[in-house]
Amino acid sequence: MKVYKFGGASVRNGAGVRNLIDITGRVGEPLAVVVSAMGKTTNALEDALSHAMNGDREAVRVRLEAIKASHEEIMDDLSLQERDLFYDIFSELEERLLRQSVTESYDMMYDATVSYGELMSTAIVASYARQCGVGAVRVDMRECLVTDDRYRDATVDFDESAERLRKALECGADMFVMQGFIGGTRDGRATTLGREGSDYTAAAVASMLGCESVTIWKDVDGILSADPRIFRDVTLIERLSYVDAVELAYSGAQIIHPKTIKPLQNKNIPLYVRPFGAPDKPGSCICRWDDYVPPRVPVLILKRSQVLLSVEPKDFSFALEESLEKVFAALNRHRQRVNLVQSSAVRISVSVDASRYFDDLIADLKHDFNVRYNDNLELLTIRGYTWDVVERESIGHTIYIRQQTRRSIKLLRDATL
Ligand code: ASP
Ligand code: MG
Repeated sequence: MKVYKFGGASVRNGAGVRNLIDITGRVGEPLAVVVSAMGKTTNALEDALSHAMNGDREAVRVRLEAIKASHEEIMDDLSLQERDLFYDIFSELEERLLRQSVTESYDMMYDATVSYGELMSTAIVASYARQCGVGAVRVDMRECLVTDDRYRDATVDFDESAERLRKALECGADMFVMQGFIGGTRDGRATTLGREGSDYTAAAVASMLGCESVTIWKDVDGILSADPRIFRDVTLIERLSYVDAVELAYSGAQIIHPKTIKPLQNKNIPLYVRPFGAPDKPGSCICRWDDYVPPRVPVLILKRSQVLLSVEPKDFSFALEESLEKVFAALNRHRQRVNLVQSSAVRISVSVDASRYFDDLIADLKHDFNVRYNDNLELLTIRGYTWDVVERESIGHTIYIRQQTRRSIKLLRDATL
């Protein structure tokens, strides 16, 4: 079995869904198809939720109407006959945001709400596939992908999920349509795996079912050496090792979710990234690579919205190990994404993603440490660097930290925009 994953951009309109059926129809063997929410639905749901939290029902109603209309437009374009499931799901969403009072934590409420994006998209895709004569079965990942209750960033229980998934697939079908990004706790509450988490779902499913490969269909030609909207001289990277892919994803390459690689690497399952609009092109492949050669061209990844946090123990203690332990425990407690670490005798500096949990972290750290920070920074990682590229990217910037290994240079610098 293979896993195909289609992101929100790939199913943002009727033509996209038709293309999905065309691409999956070429395979000729059972497929697990992981689908994201259509277009920008996840953002729209976030927006609706924030109005619901503020108690502004009118604003929620307007947002919900827009979400419904965008899906109806796609269903009309597909001349979709079977729409009952979609409307059932949509009514549940409406009920949740308009009629239920808020008794849950924000994160719990968030997952319960945004998960509807994927529930709606898979209802449409599965029903359209059947209309096209494909034996498609929709799988509810809230029941099959068991996670812990760390809402918005849930961890998958692979053993339990593998068992449930296998059971769900026992019925046999040409195509199993699964929601990316979402799962459920043991007691049946919806969870999500973090924004852009559908790639991770695809990898987890492939790992649990022992699939032959994963293909992520995207609106780009494959993995590029840099974001063409920001950098020049961008080229396609045809083959990449798992290690390089992890480094790139972790550094902020938007192409794949950072957690995606581990389950694949562990089972040696190749990951293809291919252009949705040109299914005959080979795209890029991430795989084990014994005769490894570093990327031929420097690969540039820019991670925006960074905060450089510097802490020093108040008692001027030099026991760095102890301080590191305390600081990292706090970072983990407050869900900080750490992208760079530097330490000296008494100071620890880390670059983290700006987040809504940051103020709590600072308050916590202030018990034991003197804390300072600089925000509005960006972290540029150059893998396989050349000195002219490093120079080009340093000129005109204040460089806060520069970290260098044989393969990569990281520049933490003031933001360009
Ligand atoms: N729909 C979710 C998001 O937009 C998950 C995904 O697309 O991977 O973040
Ligand atoms: Mg997406």
